[in-house]
Amino acid sequence: MAAADPYKTLGVERSASPEAIKKAYRALARKHHPDNSGGDENRFKEIQGAYDILSDPEKKAAFDRGGFQMPGAGGAGVPFDMSDLSDLLGSFLGGRRGAGPGSRSGPAPARGRDLETQVRISFAQSLDGTEVSLPVPSQDPCPDCRGTGGRPGSAMTTCPECSGQGVTVQSDGLFSTQMPCPKCRGVGRVPKDPCPTCRGTGRRPGGSSLRVKVPSGIRDGGRIKVGGRGEPGVGNGPRGDLYVVVHVAPSQVFVRKGDNLEIELPISVSEALLGGEVRVPTLDGTKTLRLAAGTRNGTVQRLKELGAPKSGGKRGDLHYRIAIEIPKDLTAEQKDLAEKLGASLDQDPRAELLKRAERLRGAPASG
Ligand SMILES: [Zn+2]
Ligand SMILES: [Zn+2]
Repeated sequence: MAAADPYKTLGVERSASPEAIKKAYRALARKHHPDNSGGDENRFKEIQGAYDILSDPEKKAAFDRGGFQMPGAGGAGVPFDMSDLSDLLGSFLGGRRGAGPGSRSGPAPARGRDLETQVRISFAQSLDGTEVSLPVPSQDPCPDCRGTGGRPGSAMTTCPECSGQGVTVQSDGLFSTQMPCPKCRGVGRVPKDPCPTCRGTGRRPGGSSLRVKVPSGIRDGGRIKVGGRGEPGVGNGPRGDLYVVVHVAPSQVFVRKGDNLEIELPISVSEALLGGEVRVPTLDGTKTLRLAAGTRNGTVQRLKELGAPKSGGKRGDLHYRIAIEIPKDLTAEQKDLAEKLGASLDQDPRAELLKRAERLRGAPASG
């Protein structure tokens, strides 16, 4: 899949002013917001992603130079790096257990933000269902700094990120969202000198893992919600949710088309002409497919309920799309046979077409 063009996504000209871009974004975001009836979460995200680029002068300039791709536009090609996830969860799933004194006068309770992470599974796993393991940093306080994240004896200082507020406010022009400051995790103060054991996170190094069930039949780009495993809330607010985006590796044999699976099935010229029985692959073995004499290129034959699992225990169908292999570089003998076949068939395959074209031009019928 090609990277989306943010100008196209927002429907604005390349020369559009920041105001015009903002206006287009607001209208589209309102229209496609997932909370609306007829809203579309994917479309909404795409719009947000586009605005993220075009509202940021640096990113916008980079895109205009051709050096910037919209994140998430890569589909199945997005690489998954466990260490990224570790960092992500480390900064957000750190919890507020060690918030300590001072948090009582903190901000009003607010729900934590939702988080999104990505996993890759194989094509077979997407059909059978599987379980993935996501690393979760420890929630226990670091034994050396007792959760402060500071080198023992280090003084505390006002968090430079949030100026001691414990929250940062993010405004995208439509909504402003209050979220816990990622640097001080809502405490408002950070140690001057980070603890070497936990590198300032305040959590015991190491951690556990979160097992997430991936249902059978999941499609590429499908999302699984893990309730309550998102970012911690502010001031005793509930945690957000974690969304796991599943990327399914493409199969060498099958192409997913909704609940059906499609296979391109090569057949020979003589098989196409004469028909017959051919052995074809299925998900769990092979079957025999009967070809009619005169099978055309591009036609589809179905084996019912041998496709991808659907909800409710049913399955889609398996489709075989016929691809006639036309041989090149015939020997003299084969050319001779082809000519003989042509002469014997004595076809005029374009006669009807030429007649129709002639009628279209309004030319007098030449008889
Ligand atoms: Zn802070
Ligand atoms: Zn520590």
